Amino acid sequence: MSAAISPNPAAGGFLVAEMSPPRLAVGGLVPFTTIDFPGRLAAVIFCQGCPWRCTYCHNAHLLPAGVGMQSWPEVLAWLKTRRDLLDGVVFSGGEPLLQRGLTTALAEVRALGFDTGLHTAGIYPERLAAALPLLDWVGFDVKAPFSEYASVVGCEGGNSARTALETLLASGVAFDIRCTVAPGFDAAALTRLRKDLTRIGVSNLTLQECRPSGGIDHLH
Ligand code: SF4
Repeated sequence: MSAAISPNPAAGGFLVAEMSPPRLAVGGLVPFTTIDFPGRLAAVIFCQGCPWRCTYCHNAHLLPAGVGMQSWPEVLAWLKTRRDLLDGVVFSGGEPLLQRGLTTALAEVRALGFDTGLHTAGIYPERLAAALPLLDWVGFDVKAPFSEYASVVGCEGGNSARTALETLLASGVAFDIRCTVAPGFDAAALTRLRKDLTRIGVSNLTLQECRPSGGIDHLH
């Protein structure tokens, strides 16, 4: 199907008319990391688009849905040249599970021999369930006590996050649970969050500090 693509600076990307969705909209790529996929030398693929608007998000350019900046076939071709150099590929964002092409992309990456990782906020529990059989590790970001998500992400997302986290725990896939300590996230809120997590069986929580710039020291 033919496509008409026009610049859309307001959306930080491009408008596409009459076009099938890309297999994966890639907003950026880090070719080598030792810290974003535990135990692996990995590449990070930043997926375009996220429906949430966390108060501290430093990936504003990745938030609008769109076709991204790099074509997935090109990224896949590049990964083929890295098979002897990297152990894994981790999909970050944005929210990678926004894209229905993610599971196919995971399968393609696995077929190249890479381990696969995912950074997610648990926005789409059913899509996470479908992706888990194709994943070796998940970095899961919790945002707040589940009843208080709106104050951080801008909408009522706590129920989705809890369901996604329960799905992850039941899967047996390796994971890390992280929380960014946003301004206003005080000790009492942290206590409420830990109680929420304990109720569903999470005992380890890694805290991440907001950077003074308003950004955060993680990739999701
Ligand atoms: S921090 Fe993650 S979940 Fe929040 S708006 Fe940014 S990309 Fe989306």
